[in-house]
Amino acid sequence: MSDTIFHKIIRREIPAELVYEDEHLVAFRDIAPQAPVHVLFVPKSDFATLNDVPEEQAVVIGRLATAAARYAKAQGFAEDGYRIVMNCNGDGGQTVFQVHLHLLAGAPLGRFGTPA
Ligand code: AMP
Repeated sequence: MSDTIFHKIIRREIPAELVYEDEHLVAFRDIAPQAPVHVLFVPKSDFATLNDVPEEQAVVIGRLATAAARYAKAQGFAEDGYRIVMNCNGDGGQTVFQVHLHLLAGAPLGRFGTPA
């Protein structure tokens, strides 16, 4: 297994504010939140970026998205809305090389996609 900070969180070697865990994934609060709600959904299987996920493993990504939607419903903000984001490599702004999904919510979010 790779050894990013997220792998260390999964192995409980460093602390994180976990909000969900099952056999496939963990979800925990982002340490530098970009919205009132900012939770990261991280698979327990090892993929550095979205580019590394083969078609036959698409369920790994699907589970992150459906877990985020379930969390939004359980927390009561699904109807107000939210955004899910997956950054990939340098231009995408990825900094931790274990694939993960950002869930952002809790306020109207600004537009996105403009060059930095
Ligand atoms: P990305 O830039 O898409 O790779 O996202 C990585 C995210 O991980 C950033 O939003 C960081 O704030 C967040 N992050 C880094 N270290 C930690 C940590 N120890 N606990 C929680 N979130 C973290």
